[in-house]
Amino acid sequence: MEPVIQMPADAVRIIEKLEQAGYEAYAVGGCVRDSVLGREPEDWDITTSASPEQVKAIFPRTIDTGIEHGTVTVMEHHVGYEVTTYRVDGRYEDGRHPSSVTFTRNLDEDLLRRDFTINAMAYNPHTGLVDRYDGMGDLARKCIRCVGVPEERFAEDALRILRALRFASQLGFEIEEHTLAAMKKLAPRLEAVSAERVRVELVKLLAGEHPELMITAYETGATSIVLPEWDVMMETEQKNPHHLYGVGVHTVKTLLAMHEEPAYLAADEHERMVYDMTMLLHDAGKPESRTTDKHGKQHFKGHPKASAEIARKVLRRLKFDNETTDLVTALVLYHDCRFDLVKAVDYPKAVRHLVSKIGKDRMKYLFTIQRADIRGQHPDYFEVSMREVDRFEREFERILEKEQCVSIRDLAVDGKVLISLGYQTGPELGEALKRLLEVVLDNPEANTRETLMRYATEWLAAE
Ligand code: ATP
Ligand code: MG
Repeated sequence: MEPVIQMPADAVRIIEKLEQAGYEAYAVGGCVRDSVLGREPEDWDITTSASPEQVKAIFPRTIDTGIEHGTVTVMEHHVGYEVTTYRVDGRYEDGRHPSSVTFTRNLDEDLLRRDFTINAMAYNPHTGLVDRYDGMGDLARKCIRCVGVPEERFAEDALRILRALRFASQLGFEIEEHTLAAMKKLAPRLEAVSAERVRVELVKLLAGEHPELMITAYETGATSIVLPEWDVMMETEQKNPHHLYGVGVHTVKTLLAMHEEPAYLAADEHERMVYDMTMLLHDAGKPESRTTDKHGKQHFKGHPKASAEIARKVLRRLKFDNETTDLVTALVLYHDCRFDLVKAVDYPKAVRHLVSKIGKDRMKYLFTIQRADIRGQHPDYFEVSMREVDRFEREFERILEKEQCVSIRDLAVDGKVLISLGYQTGPELGEALKRLLEVVLDNPEANTRETLMRYATEWLAAE
């Protein structure tokens, strides 16, 4: 059956202009796939028989996005449309870039270079759907299948192995048997794929509706190359009453739980990535922290610190930006911090100190992370653990309501005031501010100019 595809007016206009100039042009790939599935396409890519120069001659506002690969971005109403010349890719000799691309006048050849049948359909309002490889059938069967011979396609570009897993996670599709077998066979080729390309697919896989595809990623051998830390997690059992599952399966449960958290659902794409990467790595240090007591019960003392170290290493290797790396590493380090509060005599005070150590801005992530983590553990502990998180969060909210000081920035005095009292600029000043913060964390009432100046003056005199 011919699908009805609603294209944005500007995309239709671009196609019509190219056709009026005597060329062919079609919407292609992800946008056609998503339209048929009733999903909102992220962007509309256009494929054309016109060369990049010919495209540029037709449209007044273009950007040379990837001229050597035939891609020109056409701007319409501040939206960019990538217009790419029909091409046949050469071999991906380094597993990264096609070492040569050849332009062609033939749409079928262009569709042949695409990875999966569901991504190899083209559409325009005149011709309708062009579907040479039964992409429609595979969409109906919910099936991810290579265009052509799977071994050859993964040998050309091993990233496609991760793309198959990512689409399976996003769409809830099965990977066709021969395609899956070829993934297993060619997984070692992922060695040659750049960290940036791996990162993009991993982030999309985790954010998809089926992050449990991480288990398939393990089974295919893909993660043994791109994320060996994950394989170790998959292979670590947890003999402990708090846990029903091994570390890997527990991690997947927490990812699934995370995706149901209201804060996750309300989060933007970047925040979701922070949540997903934190869940993925929060227990990465458990394998190396595991000890077994004389009753055969296993413990993972100190694992958050070990996990944080592994997280930083992984995030650096996958070339995440520094800010994301620091944030995720900190969240991994503190994911179990509520246990620091159990023995507190003065609970509000203990929370103030903890919040100060972690940083106020990171707290909102942490409550959500703890809740998702708990949902992945043994249900017997669910209620008690959730109550702990609720109490922790309520106490944090009180800090915000009362605008209590939890950082040097919030102190009623600053460095200038201390200098006016006779302090020297340098480390001495920083130390004094830290000491004042400790005073205020113990006793929020002390956060007034007069009180803090009195303390500072006394300390100076005592030296
Ligand atoms: P998304 O919704 O994430 O953008 P997409 O299918 O549009 O998914 P893109 O990475 O934007 O994926 O690529 C656009 C199209 O280009 C794909 O649909 C596919 O036809 C083709 N393509 C992209 N990457 C590859 C690849 N590594 N090998 C073969 N074809 C590819
Ligand atoms: Mg796309």
